[in-house]
Amino acid sequence: MSYTDEIMERVIRENPNEPEFHQAVREVLESLRVIVEKNEEAYRRDAILERLVNPERQIKFRVPWIDRHGQVHVNTGYRVQFNSAIGPYKGGLRFHPSVNIGIIKFLGFEQIFKNSLTGLPIGGGKGGSDFDPKGKTDREIMSFCQNFMTELSKYIGADTDVPAGDIGVGGREIGYMFGQYKKLRGLFEGVLTGKGLSYGGSLVRTEATGYGLLYIVEEMLKSHGHDMAGKTVVVSGAGNVAIYAIEKAQQMGAKVVTCSDSTGWVYDPEGIDLKALKEIKEVKRARLTEYKKYRPDSEYHEGRGVWQIKCDVALPCATQNELGIEDAKLLVENGVIAVAEGANMPDTPEAFKYLQEHGVLFLPGKAANAGGVATSALEMSQNSERLHWTFEEADCKLKSIMVDLYHHIDDAAKRYGMEGNYVAGANIAGFEKVADAMLAQGIV
Ligand code: NDP
Repeated sequence: MSYTDEIMERVIRENPNEPEFHQAVREVLESLRVIVEKNEEAYRRDAILERLVNPERQIKFRVPWIDRHGQVHVNTGYRVQFNSAIGPYKGGLRFHPSVNIGIIKFLGFEQIFKNSLTGLPIGGGKGGSDFDPKGKTDREIMSFCQNFMTELSKYIGADTDVPAGDIGVGGREIGYMFGQYKKLRGLFEGVLTGKGLSYGGSLVRTEATGYGLLYIVEEMLKSHGHDMAGKTVVVSGAGNVAIYAIEKAQQMGAKVVTCSDSTGWVYDPEGIDLKALKEIKEVKRARLTEYKKYRPDSEYHEGRGVWQIKCDVALPCATQNELGIEDAKLLVENGVIAVAEGANMPDTPEAFKYLQEHGVLFLPGKAANAGGVATSALEMSQNSERLHWTFEEADCKLKSIMVDLYHHIDDAAKRYGMEGNYVAGANIAGFEKVADAMLAQGIV
């Protein structure tokens, strides 16, 4: 049996009931087959793959908090410090009822390669809780965040592990957690990214994942003789990534006609009204059902369905496994040119393989959504320097990181005879740097 197959079997055996983690590892190992076969002796001797798929540390803790009626609740908190070969652990915190150790491990594992691809010195980690922020008051959110940080603060720091936001964790939650960390540790340091501008945040961090997604898509399209101007775009999600992907796509002259949330989706043939969307989601924190009040000619549908709308470019920006094989077939039938993952692992393996086989340009999340963590690393640099860059400076750096990233994965795919396969290119390019650093640092 090959080394990669052996490791896959072991991952399934040793991590039962963690299907998302298996899926993420399988996708990476399949891409790495060529490079592992070339270096099998050295990798086996140093157990590179065994070390790669086993987190350096997994922390699980109790988070008690008090609701507005005085009732105490208990949730579970996690932080998985996956790989620090190339820098301090870096990766977001997710608050969502679906969170469990398998989800956090899949996200942490992806983060290793994504962070490596940015070219910046950051290792891979991820964390979160099964806490559901929906319907909670501001004070309940604060109580939860403070109690979550009371425990997490023992394991993180500006030079060891620097969490950021993810689903359910935005500027408000980062603020409450930062305040609690500062109180407990007596340190005003860049321990979290995604902070507010008044206390060490970076301009462009809020926009970074969505903007970065469009920068890399535009570069890929240009390399294939297209551009974003005039394209029809379908987006899923209505959170941080989706909103700023829509904003940048519109700035580039494209028309975005859909968005969605966990209960339904909107089709606005004239183009999404971004001002209305921001007010509904960022200010009122309401459901998308509200959208029709602003745009009476738009359609609202319950459930999922954005992928049935004809488009040139599709951008899944909500959550994992939201685009399956039937959706991929519809997109191909409707003539889609490119699909790029704003979310982490939103396409099932069957879906992205189908898209690739049918000539669709496909960018995996670990490349396409790396702009968020890249700008987080820029926030860390500014915190260390005690400096604050302008919007233009930070945006320019983000754009150049995303453009370089595209050429880096394109080149890796070509080097291994898989031109145009950006899944393989991203996994290989991300892995090369991490494996190199792991080999250099000995058995640790
Ligand atoms: P948000 O919480 O801001 O938004 C998530 C959006 O997806 C919301 O519209 C939410 O609906 C919807 N959603 C969440 N879960 C589900 C579900 N199970 N089914 C259908 N819709 C769902 O999160 P982000 O925008 O930050 O994150 C979106 C994705 O992007 C995630 O996969 C995340 O890991 C990834 N990502 C985020 C980065 C960032 O910088 N924020 C960086 C890199 C990747 P509702 O409004 O109803 O909650």
